[in-house]
Amino acid sequence: MTTQTPRTIAIIGGGQAGLLLGAGLLDQGHQVTIYTNRDQASFWNGKVMSSQFIFDMKLQIERDWNMNQWEKDCPNTNGISFVIPNPDGSGTKAIHWYAALEKPGQAVDQRLKYPGWMDEFVRRGGKLHIVDVGVAEMEELAGTHDLVLLAGGKGEIVKMLTVNEERSPVKQPMRSLALTYLTGMKRHDYIECVNFNLIPGVGEYFVFPSLTVDGPYGSGKTKPCDIMVMEGVPGGPMDRWHECKDAADHLQMSRDIMKQFLPWEYERMKDCELTDDNGILAGRFRPCIRNPVLHLPSGRKVMGLGDAVIVNDPITGQGSNNATMGAKHYFDAIMARGNQPFDEAWMNQTFDALYNGYAEKVTRWTNSMLFPPPEYIVNMMGAATQIPALASRLANGFNDPRDYANYWFDEESNKRAIAEAAAKGSK
Ligand SMILES: Cc1cc2nc3c(=O)[nH]c(=O)nc-3n(C[C@H](O)[C@H](O)[C@H](O)COP(=O)(O)OP(=O)(O)OC[C@H]3O[C@@H](n4cnc5c(N)ncnc54)[C@H](O)[C@@H]3O)c2cc1C
Repeated sequence: MTTQTPRTIAIIGGGQAGLLLGAGLLDQGHQVTIYTNRDQASFWNGKVMSSQFIFDMKLQIERDWNMNQWEKDCPNTNGISFVIPNPDGSGTKAIHWYAALEKPGQAVDQRLKYPGWMDEFVRRGGKLHIVDVGVAEMEELAGTHDLVLLAGGKGEIVKMLTVNEERSPVKQPMRSLALTYLTGMKRHDYIECVNFNLIPGVGEYFVFPSLTVDGPYGSGKTKPCDIMVMEGVPGGPMDRWHECKDAADHLQMSRDIMKQFLPWEYERMKDCELTDDNGILAGRFRPCIRNPVLHLPSGRKVMGLGDAVIVNDPITGQGSNNATMGAKHYFDAIMARGNQPFDEAWMNQTFDALYNGYAEKVTRWTNSMLFPPPEYIVNMMGAATQIPALASRLANGFNDPRDYANYWFDEESNKRAIAEAAAKGSK
């Protein structure tokens, strides 16, 4: 039995990290208030924000806190497929392997998930305020709560947290990002996968099933869809979204890119339609790690959570996964703190433990994917077509990317990992 008295906790930002942690803390008797700048209808009726694919280890955290409302309706993705096209322009694959995930992953459109989680948070007794929080509001909250967490995603306000340059080796946006949400995708003839295609010098494309909104807010209806994610090298042929005037142009450009570089993916999507005119997005941002403590003019402190402190390029699909890990890590630290103050030392220790124990390895691997791979990595990807145990290890690393630190970053450990996998038997 815990002797912890209920703590008053304010969370700024109702997204993957803030809503999940808020609900988890409410269940433990804490008094949680979420201050967020978009209401349920604005999410549901608005533009897509992410591809939000989440792997089982983090889905389990949602399950543990009974926040898996769409699990039965959302299509499962059961594996990872990896392709490098032939560089000769023949429209064929130089490398292709796929492997099963030990447990499936899912991507529930945040337009559906966030309104549902906001309702659930209120149902559990949480207070929810729709307000755009600035410095004045943070001052007030920090003066009246035991702890204030800033989980504002990529909102302007999080820029008040300073970038930790030492932990942020990537100094500018490395990809032009685009999302296209589609219905009518043809299935392929192997297990349902995140289909990851790496086109050297051009960019990356991955695609997988999801569950999205169907009709305006209030309809309560959902429908399955597929999400195309394109990561174009800046200035290259996958970085032309500024030329699109509207959603129809965006869809056509998505088709054109597939036809030119990935004809097998074009065949699957050429007759698809957009889920809705808001099922598109284009943008870019710099991946970085921020320092976790924001010092307000009064000297009071606010602590960052989720994307506010760990901004990962979507190339490896880990941002929502990191935000979920962060929510669970902060939850454990808050519970372990008992009745002691959430002071600056606690904030720094809590974040450093998350960074050193998890996020550093995820962001190191993700950042490495933004640069041309060393030859031994390309060779390993080729070897995985012949060595199922290697393909399986590579695929399941997405669930807990800490494993890549064992063999991704130097050639010697890489060779060892390939040999170990080969010893388990090749095709
Ligand atoms: C193109 C793209 C594809 C992605 N694909 C994946 C993927 O496949 N898998 C994956 O794991 N991650 C993916 N991500 C990343 C993922 O979406 C984010 O990491 C995740 O949403 C972060 O959660 P969060 O709670 O920190 O922030 P968010 O989910 O962004 O929530 C932040 C909340 O704060 C609110 N807010 C902002 N400013 C204020 C303010 N001043 N006052 C009050 N409220 C405020 C916002 O309205 C929002 O509700 C992708 C991102 C992009 C851009």
